[in-house]
Amino acid sequence: MTLPASHRSPATAISRYTRRSVLTGAFALATAAALPVAAAGRAYAAAVPDIIGCAAWGARAASEPVVVLANRPERIIVHHTATANVTDYSRQRAVALARAIQTYHMDAQGWIDTGQHFTVSRGAFVLEGRHNSLAELNSGRRQVRAAHCVGQNTVSIGIENEGTYTSEAPPAAQYAALADLCAHICDRYGLPASEIYGHRDFNSTACPGDRLYALLPSLRRDVAIRLGVPLSEPEAEPEAEPESEPEADPGEDPVWDLVRQATGRPPAATLNEYLPAGLLP
Ligand SMILES: [Zn+2]
Repeated sequence: MTLPASHRSPATAISRYTRRSVLTGAFALATAAALPVAAAGRAYAAAVPDIIGCAAWGARAASEPVVVLANRPERIIVHHTATANVTDYSRQRAVALARAIQTYHMDAQGWIDTGQHFTVSRGAFVLEGRHNSLAELNSGRRQVRAAHCVGQNTVSIGIENEGTYTSEAPPAAQYAALADLCAHICDRYGLPASEIYGHRDFNSTACPGDRLYALLPSLRRDVAIRLGVPLSEPEAEPEAEPESEPEADPGEDPVWDLVRQATGRPPAATLNEYLPAGLLP
């Protein structure tokens, strides 16, 4: 794959961090040469999100080892879960959702683990999805191969947002948590805020819903503000890269898009069937 040198070379990343450090004063005494990329993450203004790891939410073990790729991601892809817009904003609900998604992906879809890298609940809790996603994010150097968007699973970070955002916008707190998470991912991996996309930019799907999709320009701006760097235009429409999809039947959309399922193809099961009865909307 080709990484445009303009925003992915280590030198560029360091100079950006250094400029940010001047802005914030957090690393006023650091020199560019002495500032490792992975350690520079806290120089930006946004709060580093508190991400609930797999062990903390009680994830099952993956059915086989997750694959850690040697490359950094090139972009972020935003999804919605197409589940109900619940008003239970608790941590308990967020944990139950994470477990339900994992069970659905492993038992109904036959994947090795949760498909996406991260999940943001309606109550603004951020959770790790696929195992090792958080550790690799913190390393800032590699990514876990995922199952969230055909053609993008080896070159992007997938974020699922709880809810259905076809005609309703996400709660402000959830949106802010998403922006914080995106800024943190951009910071760690040296990505520009312009490299945030919706699932529908790559696959035939309604995901992440018309309303959330329409918010993506604002999201890019808000992430750029958090990063303290001007928002640049995307260099070009990203192209899907050929890759094998070992966890998906190539004839099926491997992403659990319940909106699409509602248009005709009968699902074997839906995510809602995996949510504990007490936590159903
Ligand atoms: Zn999606």
